[in-house]
Amino acid sequence: MADLKPVGRFAPTPSGRMHLGNVFAALIAWLSVRSRDGEMVLRMEDLDTQRTSGEFAEILRDDLRWLGLDYDRETLPQSRRTAAYDGYFEKLREMDLLYPCYCTRSQLHSVNAPHLSDGTYVYPGTCRNLTEAQRASFDRAPAWRVKVPDKIWTVEDMVQGTYTCNLATDCGDMVVRRADGVYVYQLAVTVDDGEAGVTEVVRGMDLLSSAPRQMYLQELFGFPHPVYAHVPMLLAPDGRRLSKRDKDLDLGVLRQRITPEILIGALAFAGGLIDRNLPISAKELAKEFSWEKLRGDSIYLDASAL
Ligand code: GLU
Repeated sequence: MADLKPVGRFAPTPSGRMHLGNVFAALIAWLSVRSRDGEMVLRMEDLDTQRTSGEFAEILRDDLRWLGLDYDRETLPQSRRTAAYDGYFEKLREMDLLYPCYCTRSQLHSVNAPHLSDGTYVYPGTCRNLTEAQRASFDRAPAWRVKVPDKIWTVEDMVQGTYTCNLATDCGDMVVRRADGVYVYQLAVTVDDGEAGVTEVVRGMDLLSSAPRQMYLQELFGFPHPVYAHVPMLLAPDGRRLSKRDKDLDLGVLRQRITPEILIGALAFAGGLIDRNLPISAKELAKEFSWEKLRGDSIYLDASAL
């Protein structure tokens, strides 16, 4: 990674206890930064105020402490950043890149939009060229979309290698503010990472396709691109993805029966960072961390052995 002092981040959504996949991604993010004497920032991603809570945020902080994953500062939670996001939204408007979209959810799902393998669809630009009279004829508040260019974005990911995406054909114009006025994840993350001076984004593989969307917004807002590292998802020995549904594997349960060193040792071993499955603290592990050791393919974890 770059020579400048690295700045990494934890960006959890406080909607429940951390599960092992979150712990693994947080561990790698922390190791990358701390092994190079960098700075770690914490940010609560609580845009969805229905699903998130201050209690879960407090539990997350406590879980990070228990794991030994410390941070240097916590920035404002996203639910308190609307005024900042408004400013960036206005920049997009000034660049003439925004337009209101009145499509309903069912219209979006039924129109002849090409659907992608992951279940998402490419927005076909239905509302891009509406006249003022057409816009005035709707009696509901619109979502706001940003026009995307027909251009190939290349992510040189530290773990996944080269990933390319053309937003025009793979995604379509992106919603940046929902009809209820709430800003979407892509805009909030871009602004928050940019303003916090984050130089590296380490997170789960499921967010890889978000990287080009965020790179586009970074360019529009004048932020440098961070380095990306999307770490593999954790799988049970039968190939099933470990998720929030595996209640017996959330930290609330695990903390009652194992030490943080046992958990970190098991995760580090599964990820290829150490040769034997032995207890180790995050701090010890940081001394021997290198990106080359990390497995890029699926990581199997036999949680029953924990
Ligand atoms: N808040 C997201 C999550 O908890 C992570 C977003 C990110 O790392 O960019 O899955």
